[in-house]
Amino acid sequence: MVRSLAVFRLAERFLMTLKDLTDPQAVVRAMEECDRVGRSTFLQTHGFGPADEYFLAHKGRFYDSKAIAGAAHLHQTGIPLSNSEFVGGLHGAVPRLRGLGFEIVSQRRGSYVLLWNPTRWEWDETRRQEIRQSIEAGGTGVAPWSTGSRKKDIQVGDRIFLFIVGQSERGLVASGHAASSIYLDQHWAADHDERAPTISVAWDNLLDAKLVLPWGEVQQAVPEFRDSYQGGGIKLDGLQTLSLDALWQGHLDTASVPASQRAATPEIEASYSYVIAKKRNHQKQFRSKLLAFYEPKCDVCGFDQIEILEAAHIVPDSQDGPSTVENGRLLCPNHHRAHDALLFRMDGHHAVWADPSTEFLAPARPAPGTK
Ligand SMILES: [Zn+2]
Repeated sequence: MVRSLAVFRLAERFLMTLKDLTDPQAVVRAMEECDRVGRSTFLQTHGFGPADEYFLAHKGRFYDSKAIAGAAHLHQTGIPLSNSEFVGGLHGAVPRLRGLGFEIVSQRRGSYVLLWNPTRWEWDETRRQEIRQSIEAGGTGVAPWSTGSRKKDIQVGDRIFLFIVGQSERGLVASGHAASSIYLDQHWAADHDERAPTISVAWDNLLDAKLVLPWGEVQQAVPEFRDSYQGGGIKLDGLQTLSLDALWQGHLDTASVPASQRAATPEIEASYSYVIAKKRNHQKQFRSKLLAFYEPKCDVCGFDQIEILEAAHIVPDSQDGPSTVENGRLLCPNHHRAHDALLFRMDGHHAVWADPSTEFLAPARPAPGTK
C-alpha cells in the first residue's frame, strides 16, 4: 500500500505541468516572497536563474517571469515545478502568466553604469547646455564618455546611465544610449598618458547636479544595486535595467521642469510646459523601449545612426495607439515623417507604399575608409 502510494505520488509528480497554475493569488504570493527574501535568495531557493528577456511587471516592480511561475506553482499546489520541468518565455511562462491577468514586459538588452566625478573632471558647462538644448528640442545630444574599467562588450543601442559620484549630490544624473562600440581615446585626466576606453553616447536626459535621482533611492528600488560601482562600466541585467528606468522616468516626470521655471512663469504657461515636457518624456520612454527590443536601425531603409533614430507609432498616438513594442517601430527622421504623412504604412516590418512610385530609401553610405 505504501509502495503504491509512492508510485501514485511519483506519477502525480510527473503529470504536474504549468497548466496547473490557475490561481493569480499564488502568483502574487510568489512575488511577495521574492520581495521579502530578496531576488538572489529567491532565485537560489527555487533553483532558477535570472530571466534574460521576459519580466513580470506588478505595482511598479519587476520580477523574473519563469522563476515566479515556478514558485507560484509551489504556492498553489504544494509541489515545486523546477527549472528543467517547463519552459520560460513565449511558449511557457509568458502566456500562462498573461492568461492569469499579469503584465509581461520584454527587455532584451542590459545597460551600463558610467560614472562622473565632478571634482576630478569638469564637464564643460557650454557643451552641457548644448546637449540640453538638443534634448529639449526633442532629440538627443551626443558626447563621448569613458567606460572606466570596461574595455569590451558595449554595443550600439545599449542603455547607458550616468551617475555622479564623489561629492554631496550622488546619484543618477543622465541617461542615453551607446552610439558606438568601445574605442580608445585620449584619457579624460590630462595627466594620463595612456588612452582610455571610450564610447560615444546619445544622451536623452541630462539633469542639473541639484536634481539627481539620489543613489540611496536607486539602491532601494533596484534589486542588487550595490553601494558603489568604482571604476564604472558595470553591467546591469534586464531586470535591473527595467527597474532603474522606471524609477528614473518617475523622477524625470517631477524633475524635468525645474522649480525655478515653474515659479517664475504664469501658471498656465507652467502647466503647458509641464505637459509638453511630460509628453516628450513619454516619447523618450517609448524610444527607449523600442531600442531595448529592436535592432538599432530604421525599419524601412536600415539607416543605423542611433543618435537620430526615432520611435514611431504604427497606430498613431492621436488614435490611442499604445506605446508598446508591438505598436512601435524605429524609423529614421525621413521615414518617420513619410509614415506620419501616410506615404506608407507598416505591414509587420515591411513598408507598404501608398504610391509605389514615390517609395524612397536612404542613399547608400560608402563603406568606412572608401571615398
Ligand atoms: Zn529610413
